[in-house]
Amino acid sequence: MSEQFSSQLEKYLPPPVLALIKIAGKQASESGRELYIVGGVVRDLFLGRANFDFDLVVEGDAIALARKIARDSQAKLTVHSRFGTSKLNYPGFSIDLATARSETYSRPGALPNVKPGSLKDDLIRRDFTINAMALNLNPQHFGELIDLYRGREDLERRLIRILHPKSFIDDTTRILRAIRYEQRLGFKLEVETEKLLHRDIGMMGTISGDRLRHELELILKEDEPERVLRRAEELGVLRQLHPSLTGNSWMAKTYAKARQVGKRTTLTTIYPCLLVYNMSEKENEEFIARLNFPKNLARVMRQTLQLRQEIHELENPKLELSNIYRLLRGYSTAAIQTNAIAVHSSVASQHLNLYLNKLRYVKTLLNGQDLIKMGIPAGPKVGGILNALQKARLDGKVRTRKDEEGLVHKGIPL
Ligand code: ATP
Ligand code: MG
Repeated sequence: MSEQFSSQLEKYLPPPVLALIKIAGKQASESGRELYIVGGVVRDLFLGRANFDFDLVVEGDAIALARKIARDSQAKLTVHSRFGTSKLNYPGFSIDLATARSETYSRPGALPNVKPGSLKDDLIRRDFTINAMALNLNPQHFGELIDLYRGREDLERRLIRILHPKSFIDDTTRILRAIRYEQRLGFKLEVETEKLLHRDIGMMGTISGDRLRHELELILKEDEPERVLRRAEELGVLRQLHPSLTGNSWMAKTYAKARQVGKRTTLTTIYPCLLVYNMSEKENEEFIARLNFPKNLARVMRQTLQLRQEIHELENPKLELSNIYRLLRGYSTAAIQTNAIAVHSSVASQHLNLYLNKLRYVKTLLNGQDLIKMGIPAGPKVGGILNALQKARLDGKVRTRKDEEGLVHKGIPL
Protein backbone atom coordinates (compact mmCIF):
# COMPACT_ATOMS: atom_id res chain seq x y z
CA MET A 1 0.00 0.00 0.00
CA SER A 2 1.57 3.31 -1.03
CA GLU A 3 1.59 6.24 1.32
CA GLN A 4 -1.06 8.92 1.02
CA PHE A 5 -0.31 12.64 1.00
CA SER A 6 -3.57 14.17 -0.18
CA SER A 7 -3.97 16.51 2.78
CA GLN A 8 -0.34 17.70 2.51
CA LEU A 9 -0.87 18.38 -1.19
CA GLU A 10 -4.07 20.26 -0.44
CA LYS A 11 -2.32 22.42 2.12
CA TYR A 12 0.84 22.97 0.11
CA LEU A 13 -0.54 23.99 -3.29
CA PRO A 14 -1.94 27.49 -3.71
CA PRO A 15 -5.77 27.14 -3.96
CA PRO A 16 -6.09 28.09 -7.66
CA VAL A 17 -3.33 25.62 -8.56
CA LEU A 18 -4.96 22.90 -6.48
CA ALA A 19 -8.31 23.49 -8.16
CA LEU A 20 -6.75 23.17 -11.61
CA ILE A 21 -4.77 20.12 -10.70
CA LYS A 22 -7.95 18.44 -9.53
CA ILE A 23 -9.62 19.26 -12.83
CA ALA A 24 -6.57 17.88 -14.63
CA GLY A 25 -6.64 14.65 -12.60
CA LYS A 26 -10.31 14.18 -13.39
CA GLN A 27 -9.75 14.76 -17.09
CA ALA A 28 -6.84 12.30 -17.12
CA SER A 29 -8.92 9.72 -15.33
CA GLU A 30 -11.76 10.08 -17.83
CA SER A 31 -9.29 9.39 -20.65
CA GLY A 32 -7.95 6.36 -18.79
CA ARG A 33 -4.58 8.00 -18.07
CA GLU A 34 -2.55 8.37 -14.91
CA LEU A 35 -1.44 11.90 -14.05
CA TYR A 36 1.29 12.84 -11.57
CA ILE A 37 2.94 15.88 -10.08
CA VAL A 38 6.69 15.25 -10.09
CA GLY A 39 10.19 16.47 -9.35
CA GLY A 40 11.23 19.55 -7.42
CA VAL A 41 7.76 20.48 -6.23
CA VAL A 42 7.28 17.09 -4.52
CA ARG A 43 10.69 17.39 -2.88
CA ASP A 44 9.87 20.88 -1.67
CA LEU A 45 6.44 19.86 -0.41
CA PHE A 46 8.13 17.37 1.93
CA LEU A 47 10.72 19.96 2.94
CA GLY A 48 8.09 22.66 3.50
CA ARG A 49 9.86 24.95 1.03
CA ALA A 50 8.04 27.07 -1.53
CA ASN A 51 8.25 26.00 -5.17
CA PHE A 52 6.27 27.45 -8.03
CA ASP A 53 7.38 25.02 -10.74
CA PHE A 54 4.32 22.86 -11.14
CA ASP A 55 5.48 19.94 -13.26
CA LEU A 56 2.91 17.33 -14.25
CA VAL A 57 3.60 14.11 -16.10
CA VAL A 58 0.99 11.94 -17.79
CA GLU A 59 1.42 8.42 -19.07
CA GLY A 60 0.15 9.14 -22.57
CA ASP A 61 -0.41 12.10 -24.82
CA ALA A 62 0.22 15.22 -22.73
CA ILE A 63 -0.73 17.62 -25.47
CA ALA A 64 -4.18 16.08 -26.03
CA LEU A 65 -4.80 16.21 -22.28
CA ALA A 66 -3.52 19.78 -22.03
CA ARG A 67 -5.93 20.86 -24.77
CA LYS A 68 -8.86 19.41 -22.83
CA ILE A 69 -7.77 21.06 -19.59
CA ALA A 70 -7.20 24.37 -21.36
CA ARG A 71 -10.71 24.22 -22.81
CA ASP A 72 -12.29 23.54 -19.41
CA SER A 73 -10.27 26.12 -17.50
CA GLN A 74 -9.69 28.93 -19.99
CA ALA A 75 -5.93 28.55 -19.96
CA LYS A 76 -3.64 29.95 -22.58
CA LEU A 77 -1.86 26.95 -23.99
CA THR A 78 1.72 26.74 -25.30
CA VAL A 79 2.65 23.51 -27.02
CA HIS A 80 5.98 21.95 -28.04
CA SER A 81 4.86 19.00 -30.10
CA ARG A 82 8.42 17.83 -30.76
CA PHE A 83 8.99 17.25 -27.04
CA GLY A 84 5.42 16.25 -26.14
CA THR A 85 5.28 19.08 -23.62
CA SER A 86 2.85 21.90 -23.02
CA LYS A 87 2.35 24.79 -20.68
CA LEU A 88 -0.98 25.91 -19.29
CA ASN A 89 -0.74 29.62 -18.58
CA TYR A 90 -3.01 31.26 -16.02
CA PRO A 91 -2.88 34.74 -14.54
CA GLY A 92 -0.03 34.65 -12.02
CA PHE A 93 1.17 31.08 -12.55
CA SER A 94 1.60 28.29 -15.07
CA ILE A 95 1.54 24.51 -15.06
CA ASP A 96 3.80 22.32 -17.19
CA LEU A 97 2.41 19.11 -18.53
CA ALA A 98 4.66 16.53 -20.21
CA THR A 99 4.31 13.06 -21.63
CA ALA A 100 6.14 10.50 -19.48
CA ARG A 101 9.26 9.60 -21.41
CA SER A 102 12.22 7.33 -21.50
CA GLU A 103 15.66 8.60 -22.37
CA THR A 104 18.71 6.83 -23.68
CA TYR A 105 22.15 8.27 -24.27
CA SER A 106 24.04 7.39 -27.45
CA ARG A 107 27.33 8.68 -26.07
CA PRO A 108 28.58 10.59 -23.04
CA GLY A 109 27.91 14.30 -23.22
CA ALA A 110 25.30 13.86 -25.96
CA LEU A 111 21.71 14.97 -25.56
CA PRO A 112 19.38 12.05 -24.86
CA ASN A 113 17.21 10.18 -27.35
CA VAL A 114 13.68 10.55 -26.09
CA LYS A 115 10.54 8.46 -26.58
CA PRO A 116 7.21 8.11 -24.75
CA GLY A 117 7.34 5.78 -21.78
CA SER A 118 5.89 4.97 -18.38
CA LEU A 119 6.17 6.99 -15.19
CA LYS A 120 8.86 4.55 -14.11
CA ASP A 121 10.90 5.37 -17.24
CA ASP A 122 10.36 9.03 -16.57
CA LEU A 123 11.60 8.77 -13.01
CA ILE A 124 14.74 6.77 -13.70
CA ARG A 125 16.02 9.41 -16.13
CA ARG A 126 16.03 11.97 -13.31
CA ASP A 127 19.04 13.30 -11.46
CA PHE A 128 18.67 12.51 -7.74
CA THR A 129 16.45 10.38 -5.54
CA ILE A 130 14.98 13.46 -3.86
CA ASN A 131 13.95 14.79 -7.29
CA ALA A 132 12.52 11.49 -8.51
CA MET A 133 9.31 11.27 -6.53
CA ALA A 134 5.78 11.65 -7.89
CA LEU A 135 2.32 12.12 -6.38
CA ASN A 136 -0.69 10.71 -8.18
CA LEU A 137 -3.37 13.25 -9.13
CA ASN A 138 -6.20 11.00 -10.34
CA PRO A 139 -9.26 11.30 -8.06
CA GLN A 140 -9.20 7.65 -6.95
CA HIS A 141 -5.52 7.81 -5.99
CA PHE A 142 -5.09 11.49 -5.23
CA GLY A 143 -1.93 12.09 -3.18
CA GLU A 144 -0.46 8.60 -3.45
CA LEU A 145 3.32 8.72 -3.39
CA ILE A 146 5.46 6.93 -5.97
CA ASP A 147 8.97 6.81 -4.56
CA LEU A 148 10.89 4.09 -6.38
CA TYR A 149 14.32 5.26 -5.21
CA ARG A 150 13.67 6.05 -1.57
CA GLY A 151 13.75 9.77 -2.04
CA ARG A 152 11.84 10.33 1.19
CA GLU A 153 14.44 8.46 3.14
CA ASP A 154 17.20 10.55 1.57
CA LEU A 155 15.30 13.70 2.45
CA GLU A 156 15.20 12.48 6.06
CA ARG A 157 18.89 11.68 5.99
CA ARG A 158 19.68 14.84 4.07
CA LEU A 159 21.49 13.11 1.22
CA ILE A 160 22.01 13.85 -2.47
CA ARG A 161 22.11 10.48 -4.21
CA ILE A 162 22.13 9.62 -7.91
CA LEU A 163 19.84 6.84 -9.13
CA HIS A 164 22.41 4.56 -10.77
CA PRO A 165 26.20 4.41 -11.19
CA LYS A 166 26.13 5.66 -14.80
CA SER A 167 24.17 8.79 -13.96
CA PHE A 168 27.04 11.29 -14.16
CA ILE A 169 28.23 9.66 -17.38
CA ASP A 170 24.79 9.98 -18.96
CA ASP A 171 24.66 13.65 -18.05
CA THR A 172 27.69 15.21 -16.47
CA THR A 173 25.92 18.50 -15.78
CA ARG A 174 24.45 16.54 -12.86
CA ILE A 175 27.77 17.00 -11.08
CA LEU A 176 27.08 20.72 -10.85
CA ARG A 177 23.43 20.12 -10.01
CA ALA A 178 24.42 17.78 -7.16
CA ILE A 179 26.57 20.45 -5.55
CA ARG A 180 23.91 23.09 -6.08
CA TYR A 181 21.21 21.11 -4.27
CA GLU A 182 23.64 19.97 -1.59
CA GLN A 183 24.50 23.54 -0.70
CA ARG A 184 21.01 24.96 -1.16
CA LEU A 185 19.46 22.42 1.16
CA GLY A 186 22.38 21.96 3.54
CA PHE A 187 22.56 18.27 2.56
CA LYS A 188 25.56 16.00 1.95
CA LEU A 189 26.58 14.03 -1.10
CA GLU A 190 25.91 10.37 -0.36
CA VAL A 191 29.23 8.48 -0.11
CA GLU A 192 28.89 6.39 -3.26
CA THR A 193 27.62 9.42 -5.21
CA GLU A 194 30.67 11.39 -4.13
CA LYS A 195 32.97 8.57 -5.24
CA LEU A 196 31.28 8.44 -8.63
CA LEU A 197 31.51 12.19 -8.90
CA HIS A 198 35.28 11.92 -8.51
CA ARG A 199 35.44 9.04 -10.95
CA ASP A 200 33.50 10.94 -13.63
CA ILE A 201 34.73 14.47 -13.02
CA GLY A 202 36.98 14.42 -16.10
CA MET A 203 33.89 13.96 -18.28
CA MET A 204 33.00 17.59 -17.67
CA GLY A 205 35.23 18.29 -20.66
CA THR A 206 32.58 16.68 -22.89
CA ILE A 207 29.82 19.14 -21.93
CA SER A 208 29.13 21.95 -24.39
CA GLY A 209 29.86 25.52 -23.33
CA ASP A 210 26.19 26.44 -23.49
CA ARG A 211 25.14 23.65 -21.14
CA LEU A 212 27.95 24.44 -18.71
CA ARG A 213 27.02 28.09 -18.73
CA HIS A 214 23.39 27.24 -18.13
CA GLU A 215 24.37 25.29 -15.01
CA LEU A 216 26.59 28.13 -13.86
CA GLU A 217 23.68 30.53 -14.34
CA LEU A 218 21.53 28.28 -12.16
CA ILE A 219 24.23 28.30 -9.49
CA LEU A 220 24.40 32.08 -9.63
CA LYS A 221 20.63 32.26 -9.12
CA GLU A 222 20.93 30.56 -5.74
CA ASP A 223 20.52 32.66 -2.59
CA GLU A 224 24.19 32.12 -1.70
CA PRO A 225 26.08 31.00 -4.81
CA GLU A 226 29.41 31.35 -3.00
CA ARG A 227 28.59 28.24 -0.97
CA VAL A 228 28.24 26.26 -4.18
CA LEU A 229 31.44 27.75 -5.57
CA ARG A 230 33.41 26.94 -2.43
CA ARG A 231 32.19 23.36 -2.42
CA ALA A 232 32.82 23.01 -6.16
CA GLU A 233 36.39 24.13 -5.58
CA GLU A 234 36.81 21.70 -2.70
CA LEU A 235 35.64 18.81 -4.89
CA GLY A 236 37.87 19.85 -7.81
CA VAL A 237 34.84 20.65 -9.95
CA LEU A 238 35.39 24.38 -10.33
CA ARG A 239 38.79 23.74 -11.92
CA GLN A 240 36.98 21.91 -14.69
CA LEU A 241 35.24 25.11 -15.75
CA HIS A 242 38.57 26.92 -15.80
CA PRO A 243 41.80 26.14 -13.92
CA SER A 244 42.09 29.66 -12.50
CA LEU A 245 38.58 29.80 -10.97
CA THR A 246 38.35 29.93 -7.19
CA GLY A 247 35.57 29.78 -4.66
CA ASN A 248 37.62 31.06 -1.75
CA SER A 249 36.76 33.37 1.13
CA TRP A 250 37.50 36.46 -0.97
CA MET A 251 34.81 35.31 -3.37
CA ALA A 252 32.43 34.68 -0.49
CA LYS A 253 33.04 38.14 0.93
CA THR A 254 32.56 39.96 -2.35
CA TYR A 255 29.46 37.96 -3.27
CA ALA A 256 27.86 38.83 0.04
CA LYS A 257 28.77 42.47 -0.49
CA ALA A 258 27.32 42.39 -4.01
CA ARG A 259 23.97 41.28 -2.60
CA GLN A 260 23.93 44.22 -0.21
CA VAL A 261 24.43 46.76 -2.96
CA GLY A 262 23.05 45.12 -6.09
CA LYS A 263 19.55 44.39 -7.26
CA ARG A 264 18.73 40.83 -8.20
CA THR A 265 18.87 41.64 -11.92
CA THR A 266 22.28 43.29 -11.76
CA LEU A 267 23.67 40.36 -9.77
CA THR A 268 23.38 38.16 -12.84
CA THR A 269 26.08 40.39 -14.36
CA ILE A 270 28.09 41.29 -11.26
CA TYR A 271 28.53 37.70 -10.04
CA PRO A 272 30.26 36.48 -13.24
CA CYS A 273 32.41 39.62 -13.27
CA LEU A 274 33.53 38.94 -9.70
CA LEU A 275 34.28 35.39 -10.73
CA VAL A 276 36.86 36.59 -13.26
CA TYR A 277 38.07 39.62 -11.31
CA ASN A 278 41.40 38.06 -10.36
CA MET A 279 42.03 36.44 -13.73
CA SER A 280 44.52 37.61 -16.32
CA GLU A 281 43.08 38.84 -19.59
CA LYS A 282 44.15 35.64 -21.25
CA GLU A 283 42.45 33.47 -18.64
CA ASN A 284 39.32 35.57 -18.93
CA GLU A 285 39.28 35.06 -22.70
CA GLU A 286 39.68 31.30 -22.29
CA PHE A 287 36.83 31.21 -19.80
CA ILE A 288 34.58 33.33 -22.03
CA ALA A 289 35.28 31.03 -24.96
CA ARG A 290 34.79 27.82 -22.98
CA LEU A 291 31.41 28.83 -21.58
CA ASN A 292 30.40 30.76 -24.67
CA PHE A 293 29.23 33.79 -22.69
CA PRO A 294 26.90 36.06 -24.65
CA LYS A 295 28.54 39.11 -26.25
CA ASN A 296 27.17 41.69 -23.84
CA LEU A 297 28.20 39.88 -20.72
CA ALA A 298 31.63 39.07 -22.20
CA ARG A 299 32.09 42.78 -22.92
CA VAL A 300 31.33 43.72 -19.32
CA MET A 301 33.67 41.00 -18.05
CA ARG A 302 36.47 42.42 -20.20
CA GLN A 303 35.72 45.96 -19.06
CA THR A 304 35.86 44.81 -15.46
CA LEU A 305 39.45 43.69 -15.94
CA GLN A 306 40.39 46.81 -17.93
CA LEU A 307 39.08 49.04 -15.18
CA ARG A 308 40.87 46.98 -12.56
CA GLN A 309 44.11 47.71 -14.40
CA GLU A 310 43.47 51.45 -14.35
CA ILE A 311 42.19 51.56 -10.83
CA HIS A 312 45.40 53.05 -9.38
CA GLU A 313 44.45 56.32 -11.05
CA LEU A 314 41.40 56.48 -8.79
CA GLU A 315 43.44 56.03 -5.64
CA ASN A 316 44.47 59.67 -5.49
CA PRO A 317 42.29 61.33 -2.79
CA LYS A 318 42.74 64.76 -4.40
CA LEU A 319 41.33 63.73 -7.74
CA GLU A 320 39.00 66.34 -9.24
CA LEU A 321 35.45 65.16 -9.76
CA SER A 322 35.65 65.91 -13.46
CA ASN A 323 38.64 63.58 -13.66
CA ILE A 324 36.78 60.77 -11.95
CA TYR A 325 34.03 61.32 -14.48
CA ARG A 326 36.48 61.28 -17.40
CA LEU A 327 38.11 58.06 -16.18
CA LEU A 328 34.83 56.19 -15.75
CA ARG A 329 32.46 57.52 -18.40
CA GLY A 330 33.39 54.79 -20.91
CA TYR A 331 32.67 51.86 -18.60
CA SER A 332 29.43 49.99 -18.12
CA THR A 333 27.70 50.35 -14.78
CA ALA A 334 28.22 46.69 -13.88
CA ALA A 335 31.98 46.87 -14.52
CA ILE A 336 32.18 49.88 -12.20
CA GLN A 337 29.98 48.24 -9.57
CA THR A 338 32.13 45.12 -9.64
CA ASN A 339 35.28 47.15 -9.11
CA ALA A 340 33.65 49.17 -6.35
CA ILE A 341 32.89 45.90 -4.55
CA ALA A 342 36.20 44.19 -5.23
CA VAL A 343 38.87 46.88 -5.05
CA HIS A 344 41.17 47.02 -2.01
CA SER A 345 41.73 50.75 -1.88
CA SER A 346 38.97 52.51 0.01
CA VAL A 347 39.66 55.80 -1.78
CA ALA A 348 39.21 54.15 -5.16
CA SER A 349 36.05 52.48 -3.93
CA GLN A 350 34.67 55.81 -2.71
CA HIS A 351 35.40 57.41 -6.06
CA LEU A 352 33.69 54.58 -7.91
CA ASN A 353 30.62 54.88 -5.71
CA LEU A 354 30.58 58.64 -6.04
CA TYR A 355 30.47 58.22 -9.79
CA LEU A 356 27.72 55.59 -9.58
CA ASN A 357 25.54 57.50 -7.14
CA LYS A 358 26.05 61.04 -8.31
CA LEU A 359 28.55 62.07 -10.96
CA ARG A 360 27.11 60.03 -13.78
CA TYR A 361 23.78 61.86 -13.41
CA VAL A 362 25.28 65.33 -13.48
CA LYS A 363 23.88 67.24 -16.44
CA THR A 364 24.40 70.80 -17.64
CA LEU A 365 21.40 73.12 -17.43
CA LEU A 366 22.03 74.53 -20.90
CA ASN A 367 21.59 72.20 -23.83
CA GLY A 368 22.77 72.36 -27.44
CA GLN A 369 19.71 74.34 -28.57
CA ASP A 370 20.32 76.94 -25.86
CA LEU A 371 23.91 77.37 -27.02
CA ILE A 372 22.85 77.85 -30.64
CA LYS A 373 20.30 80.44 -29.52
CA MET A 374 23.12 82.18 -27.71
CA GLY A 375 24.95 82.48 -31.03
CA ILE A 376 27.28 79.47 -30.99
CA PRO A 377 27.39 78.08 -34.54
CA ALA A 378 25.86 74.63 -34.88
CA GLY A 379 28.64 72.07 -35.18
CA PRO A 380 31.40 70.42 -33.12
CA LYS A 381 31.94 73.54 -31.06
CA VAL A 382 28.55 73.00 -29.35
CA GLY A 383 29.62 69.57 -28.08
CA GLY A 384 32.94 70.97 -26.91
CA ILE A 385 31.26 73.72 -24.90
CA LEU A 386 28.77 71.31 -23.37
CA ASN A 387 31.67 69.11 -22.23
CA ALA A 388 33.48 72.06 -20.76
CA LEU A 389 30.30 73.19 -19.01
CA GLN A 390 29.85 69.76 -17.56
CA LYS A 391 33.41 69.68 -16.32
CA ALA A 392 32.85 73.07 -14.66
CA ARG A 393 29.63 71.79 -13.10
CA LEU A 394 31.26 68.61 -11.78
CA ASP A 395 34.03 70.65 -10.19
CA GLY A 396 31.54 73.03 -8.59
CA LYS A 397 32.48 76.04 -10.68
CA VAL A 398 28.93 76.73 -11.90
CA ARG A 399 25.61 76.26 -10.11
CA THR A 400 22.85 78.21 -11.80
CA ARG A 401 21.83 78.64 -15.41
CA LYS A 402 23.16 82.19 -15.18
CA ASP A 403 26.57 80.82 -14.12
CA GLU A 404 26.64 78.58 -17.16
CA GLU A 405 25.61 81.41 -19.49
CA GLY A 406 28.29 83.59 -17.94
CA LEU A 407 30.91 80.96 -18.67
CA VAL A 408 29.76 80.63 -22.27
CA HIS A 409 29.87 84.43 -22.77
CA LYS A 410 33.32 84.62 -21.24
CA GLY A 411 34.43 81.99 -23.75
CA ILE A 412 35.37 78.90 -21.77
CA PRO A 413 38.70 77.33 -22.60
CA LEU A 414 37.98 74.06 -24.39
P1 ATP B 1 14.67 23.90 -8.75
O1 ATP B 1 14.08 24.20 -7.42
O2 ATP B 1 16.13 24.20 -8.83
O3 ATP B 1 13.89 24.41 -9.93
P2 ATP B 1 13.81 21.40 -9.69
O4 ATP B 1 13.93 20.06 -9.04
O5 ATP B 1 12.46 21.92 -9.95
O6 ATP B 1 14.65 22.34 -8.79
P3 ATP B 1 14.39 21.77 -12.49
O7 ATP B 1 15.71 22.16 -13.05
O8 ATP B 1 13.26 22.70 -12.55
O9 ATP B 1 14.69 21.34 -10.99
O10 ATP B 1 14.02 20.39 -13.13
C1 ATP B 1 12.81 19.72 -12.82
C2 ATP B 1 13.06 18.24 -12.62
O11 ATP B 1 13.62 17.68 -13.80
C3 ATP B 1 14.07 17.91 -11.51
O12 ATP B 1 13.43 17.78 -10.28
C4 ATP B 1 14.65 16.61 -11.98
O13 ATP B 1 13.83 15.54 -11.59
C5 ATP B 1 14.60 16.73 -13.48
N1 ATP B 1 15.88 17.17 -14.06
C6 ATP B 1 16.27 18.43 -14.36
N2 ATP B 1 17.52 18.44 -14.88
C7 ATP B 1 17.92 17.17 -14.93
C8 ATP B 1 19.12 16.51 -15.37
N3 ATP B 1 20.14 17.19 -15.87
N4 ATP B 1 19.17 15.17 -15.27
C9 ATP B 1 18.12 14.49 -14.77
N5 ATP B 1 17.00 15.02 -14.34
C10 ATP B 1 16.88 16.34 -14.40
MG1 MG C 1 12.23 23.69 -10.97
